[in-house]
Amino acid sequence: MSCIFCKIVAGEIPAEIIYQDDDVMCFKDVAPQAPTHLLVIPKKHIGSIAELKDSDTNLAGKILVTATAMAKDQGISESGYRVAMNCGDEGGQTVGHIHMHVLGGRQMGWPPG
Ligand code: AMP
Repeated sequence: MSCIFCKIVAGEIPAEIIYQDDDVMCFKDVAPQAPTHLLVIPKKHIGSIAELKDSDTNLAGKILVTATAMAKDQGISESGYRVAMNCGDEGGQTVGHIHMHVLGGRQMGWPPG
């Protein structure tokens, strides 16, 4: 298994895990870009959002709903936050396993760099 996020799911490398259930896991980003920076991933390996299938519809929704729950849990829901999913090279994706960033605790700019 070469996927770093699959290794986190398998417990082979450490992460600051905030939440997990049968389908998804949430942990702190190792290089935070904001005071709160979480990643929500599916436990199942999917390389990018470009690979999502119709059968992944519930899972994709669960990633978003989990992200909003995690934002509430971390106390950034009222002040506001950003969720982002980078896709492919020009989308800025560096890890080939779907992940939703949850960023908050500071003012976000737009457009992103
Ligand atoms: P992206 O550039 O959208 O693919 O985001 C990948 C994110 O994964 C980056 O923000 C990295 O800091 C983060 N990351 C990479 N390796 C780890 C790790 N072992 N634990 C937690 N976050 C990681």
